Amino acid sequence: MGFRLSCWSPRPRMQADPKSQSHSPGAGSDPARASGRSAEIITIGTELLLGQLVDTNTPAIAAELAENGIDVYRTCSVGDNRVRIAEAVREAASRADAVMCAGGLGPTVDDVTRDAIADVAGVALLRDERVADDLRRYFAGLGRTMSANNERQALFPAGAIILENPHGTAPGFALDVGSAIVIALPGPPRELLPMLREKAVPLLRSRWNLAAAIVSRIIRTAGVSESEIDRRIDDLFRSAENPSIAVLTHDGEVIVKVTGKAATAEDARSLCDGLVAQLVARLGECVYSTDGASLPETVGRCLRERGLTLAAAESCTGGLVGALVTSVAGASDYFRGSIVAYGNRAKTQLLDVAPPLIERHGAVSAEVAAAMAEGAKAALEASLAVAVTGIAGPSGGTQDKPVGLVYVALVGEDHTCTVQRLQLPGARDMVQRRAALAALLLVLRTCREKRTGG
Ligand code: AMP
Ligand code: MG
Repeated sequence: MGFRLSCWSPRPRMQADPKSQSHSPGAGSDPARASGRSAEIITIGTELLLGQLVDTNTPAIAAELAENGIDVYRTCSVGDNRVRIAEAVREAASRADAVMCAGGLGPTVDDVTRDAIADVAGVALLRDERVADDLRRYFAGLGRTMSANNERQALFPAGAIILENPHGTAPGFALDVGSAIVIALPGPPRELLPMLREKAVPLLRSRWNLAAAIVSRIIRTAGVSESEIDRRIDDLFRSAENPSIAVLTHDGEVIVKVTGKAATAEDARSLCDGLVAQLVARLGECVYSTDGASLPETVGRCLRERGLTLAAAESCTGGLVGALVTSVAGASDYFRGSIVAYGNRAKTQLLDVAPPLIERHGAVSAEVAAAMAEGAKAALEASLAVAVTGIAGPSGGTQDKPVGLVYVALVGEDHTCTVQRLQLPGARDMVQRRAALAALLLVLRTCREKRTGG
């Protein structure tokens, strides 16, 4: 036998959670999803087996396949070993219609995925001159000559379809092995994901004539917990099958995903539209976008449309509000800057917060938050200013002011001030992130009110 794999099979969740039924691999309960095609996923890299690298490629590939109605029955990870990779591919190809391999396409000697797949197919590796030229040009562009190692990335099993990689040097490929199609994708997620979505999945869809289109719409929310979202849409959640609803939490935000399947993309989209409208009405003020835009993007759009400028004053978020706002290209159109005033002296010197105010109410108080916002508005001459002060923890909390207590203040054009007192859950980084998101949400609400009001 002599091969060792670390394997696990996802266990279908069937009865326990009614929400997961339509996603249960093998449940067979949702004709709108099943394509009748199956896949297995093999992630490749010794780092994965040593616990040095968290495998994010398996869930990414699994989610993409699920969205396309392709059932994933088994996944495994295998080290950088030609024989063991070949064994894993051979086994998977004997069971599944598609075998998705990820990793081991790099230029180093331990990257042997291409060799192993060629072994299984019983074909030689051939050099693709066009890919070799592209690689040479790429290295020339960097002022380097291509090493012999990199030449290996122009080798593909005979008969393979090459999947171009605009984000890196390792192209992927697809190769028929018996009745299965084996697809090799590069390991780095930023190379793998576009190739998966733009090349590999379309190849499978056309190969298997998966005419039905699957369309997802994303409703993004902030400032509300997952359980509160659940409460508001519970009945829709339970009854929806096509389109189906999924609720996902990510980085302090809750995302509601609506997925519809129909004969054409247009039909699938209009199937989703009705449910999205219903969900948005139910969810109310916490929804900030339905077109995939992030909170900083949505805030930026609103400020730009309204011709407003924004300044920030940050204590416990240490600049995160500014980092989020400036993650959007072109933010200089509306963002004046953020003053990180962490200590009391900075609050006084940079934001003109009166020392007695801090002494009387404490640095974490509605009064100081409001004064910080006023100070940033004045210093940076912005139409709106938002301020955040709080206790991110894990230490520094008291009975009156526990860890997670955050004040967010917003001063508007007419100097009216809104202050929110929040009690945020989570470890330090999550308190900071949630506080920064709350600040952006307050900016968005103020900005939107102005739009409807004037
Ligand atoms: P490789 O193509 O196997 O040499 O992988 C190159 C790089 O891609 C690795 O060093 C990781 O940073 C990343 N990578 C490879 N496999 C995975 C995986 N399963 N999940 C997340 N990142 C990965
Ligand atoms: Mg590797």
